[in-house]
Amino acid sequence: MNVIGKVTVLPQLPPAIARLSELAYNLYWSWTPHAQELYRELDWESWERFQHNPVRTLLEVPQARLEELAADPAYLRRYAGVMADFDAYMGQTDTWARRHAPAMKPVAYFSMEYAYHESLPIYSGGLGVLAGDHCKSASDLGIPFTAVGMLFHQGYFRQLFDKDGWQTEAYDELDLTTLPITPATTASGEEARVKVRIGTRDVHVRVWSLNVGRIRVLLLDANVPENSEDDRKLTARLYGGNQELRVQQYLLLGVAGIRALRLLGVPAEVYHMNEGHAALLGLERIREAVAAGLDFRAAVESVASSTLFTTHTPVAAGNDAFSYEMMDRYMAKWPGLLNVSRDELYALAEHEQVWDNHLVPTFSMTVFALNMSRAANGVSELHGEVSRKMWNFLYEGARPEEVPIGHVTNGAHNLTFTSQPMRNLLSTVLPTDWTQRLEDEAMWGAVEGLTDAQLQGVQLAMKSEMIRFVRSRMRDQMIRNGASAADVAATDTLMSENALTIGFARRFATYKRATLLFRDKARLSRIVNNPERPVQFVFAGKAHPADNPGKAFIQEIYKVSQEPEFRGKIVILENYDMNVARHLVQGVDIWLNNPRRPLEASGTSGMKASFNGSPNFSVLDGWWREGCDGTNGWPIGEEREYADLNVQDDADAYSLYQTLESEIVPRYYGTLAGAESWAHTVRRSIETVSPRFSMQRQVIDYVQKYYIPVGERGAQVAADHARRAREIAGWKTWVRQQWPYTSISAQATLPATSQPGQTVPVTAQVNSAGINLDDLRVEAVLERSGHVTRVPLRSQGNGAFCADVPLNDSGLYSVGVRMVPVLGGLSNELEAGLIKWA
Ligand SMILES: *Cc1c(COP(=O)(O)O)cnc(C)c1O
Repeated sequence: MNVIGKVTVLPQLPPAIARLSELAYNLYWSWTPHAQELYRELDWESWERFQHNPVRTLLEVPQARLEELAADPAYLRRYAGVMADFDAYMGQTDTWARRHAPAMKPVAYFSMEYAYHESLPIYSGGLGVLAGDHCKSASDLGIPFTAVGMLFHQGYFRQLFDKDGWQTEAYDELDLTTLPITPATTASGEEARVKVRIGTRDVHVRVWSLNVGRIRVLLLDANVPENSEDDRKLTARLYGGNQELRVQQYLLLGVAGIRALRLLGVPAEVYHMNEGHAALLGLERIREAVAAGLDFRAAVESVASSTLFTTHTPVAAGNDAFSYEMMDRYMAKWPGLLNVSRDELYALAEHEQVWDNHLVPTFSMTVFALNMSRAANGVSELHGEVSRKMWNFLYEGARPEEVPIGHVTNGAHNLTFTSQPMRNLLSTVLPTDWTQRLEDEAMWGAVEGLTDAQLQGVQLAMKSEMIRFVRSRMRDQMIRNGASAADVAATDTLMSENALTIGFARRFATYKRATLLFRDKARLSRIVNNPERPVQFVFAGKAHPADNPGKAFIQEIYKVSQEPEFRGKIVILENYDMNVARHLVQGVDIWLNNPRRPLEASGTSGMKASFNGSPNFSVLDGWWREGCDGTNGWPIGEEREYADLNVQDDADAYSLYQTLESEIVPRYYGTLAGAESWAHTVRRSIETVSPRFSMQRQVIDYVQKYYIPVGERGAQVAADHARRAREIAGWKTWVRQQWPYTSISAQATLPATSQPGQTVPVTAQVNSAGINLDDLRVEAVLERSGHVTRVPLRSQGNGAFCADVPLNDSGLYSVGVRMVPVLGGLSNELEAGLIKWA
């Protein structure tokens, strides 16, 4: 057809079900299966065809069907029930925040991607799911919170396998009228538009509003007629294109994001940057402060003191960094706007790296984010430790454990990923308000009251459901790839309800080692083809479009799945998304994860499986290192690092097979009762993982550990026309200028050997070059088998310092002396970044 125009005809919702439209525009439905059911019932085909999209379903459903259901008493009863729950949720006043954090300051959360639901494909993987879940729990807890992100009108990509199992990518243009978004409007009722200067162009950005329960998400969209064709593509694809595109997208997210908040009058006093993509929000906030009369350095102090940065990438090379030339192309105007030299601005992002065999300074988004914040965290305990080591070089003279990066272990949004039958079952033993107390560990003990048969009933039903889904997906894929009729028919018998089923799904980044299972195929074949105790595997996952090694992993698994001995017992599904994720975590018996330790910052999919009673079987990395307690799942490999990757892969694969054969399979098929039974492991996995790795626990941790203190300190530093910020900036400038002229020498009268409890005198002589002695901490640092204690030295006047340093235990001590400039009220002692050792 030659299209000359398009028009959307909206349905007339009968008054009896008029609020279906309101509900469709609030993602409350995305974690509420009985709300989704209302739309599915309207038009089953549209529901399935358009990724379970309520708005789209309302647009497609025939008017007659609406009239029919509006007169159906059973439907109206369900409708009334859902609306009553929705109203109760939206109107809840006795929230966690009201009770536990009544004075907390409003948070603005910035992330490049958000995964809320498959019908809104603006995410690629775990980072997006984490951000989406964070919003959902922020809503559940009732905290003051607004999120900012991007509306990618071609999403990430839809994954297709060709007949050889090679990944291809399809980009579908989203029809915005079918998404649950509305144009954000200003107080005067106009559609919100902001502008960002990128290079020499002004890029216009439209702002969309998305409701996630009680909180709002602002989505930025450059696809507007005022922009050039190229600029309209700036928000086409997530993680697409080259470095040039990335820089421009980061400017959009950071700068347009802040402008959108201001234009719409959204209150924000704490800024949370989820990964370095959001770092450039600091630029715009500094510009505001400079425009209000602060100098650059005071502006940085003021902005950073109210900012939190969460890092997710445990490989230095995985952190985005750009050449100075490229930054110049897009940021030429910024030094002028900020009243600072280019060199001073770029110094805040400088990371020297080897590029093309040369050591060059690069503009690192992570370094900039660390300098733009006064609080930073990794996403598991081990990842916190790895991050402190990785960024230690930014804090010269500091020991790794002193690097000011903490951690909050990730969680997942329980209700988004827990199947409705499992929720129903949990409701029979948990208190009626359990969905509001998900983090309550004691509450979850009640899961012990579920019988083996009850759990097995739900899990078998969900496994059947998943197998139906797998078969139908594989059938579609076969038909599309022109498979023979026999091959198409064979999809009807893929997988079996009676076999122990293991799931593996995640992005196919190579460090996640999706093919580790195939290291010894003969052994795997014996495990899979054991006639009494069969085991089967289901895989899914996307590789980044430019990641050929990742795509080769997909193809390798696909090829194995076609070999006669693995056919129907190992399958790999296309297009891993929230929908596939839900089916898998709800339907498998075991969740497998075998990343190369310590590269998995946290991982979250195993949590989702545990919520559904599918125990985790994973390398002791990320969250599982904290979660595994010996009763709730199984570890793979040892808690150690390897110098040789091949040795590590061999050791982990061996451990994987060994545990599967000798522990997991016998338990699954065994008949022992009590602590030896399968159901025991299932109960333990639900009751231990659900509270500790709930997104609710995670967001509460953020509130208590970061949002509240960062909000308070940010307000103090900004008060009185940023008086504190100006003092701190002035002090740092002075101290940094004098530092090269300072000196310290020290002496310790150490005996060759000593008794526990004895003290040794340590003295130091300091030339402070005019820095106030009260602003210097002079200290002895004692290390004994990796443990460090610090003992302050007292000033004796004339730059002399001394202390009697106790040696409390036996063992070999090393003793050092150093001085650190400190000022009361800094966010941490290393903030000035200066340490001098004697
Ligand atoms: C949970 C989830 C992820 C993250 O999985 P990891 O095991 O943490 O890598 C990625 N993609 C989707 C669709 C998910 O639901």
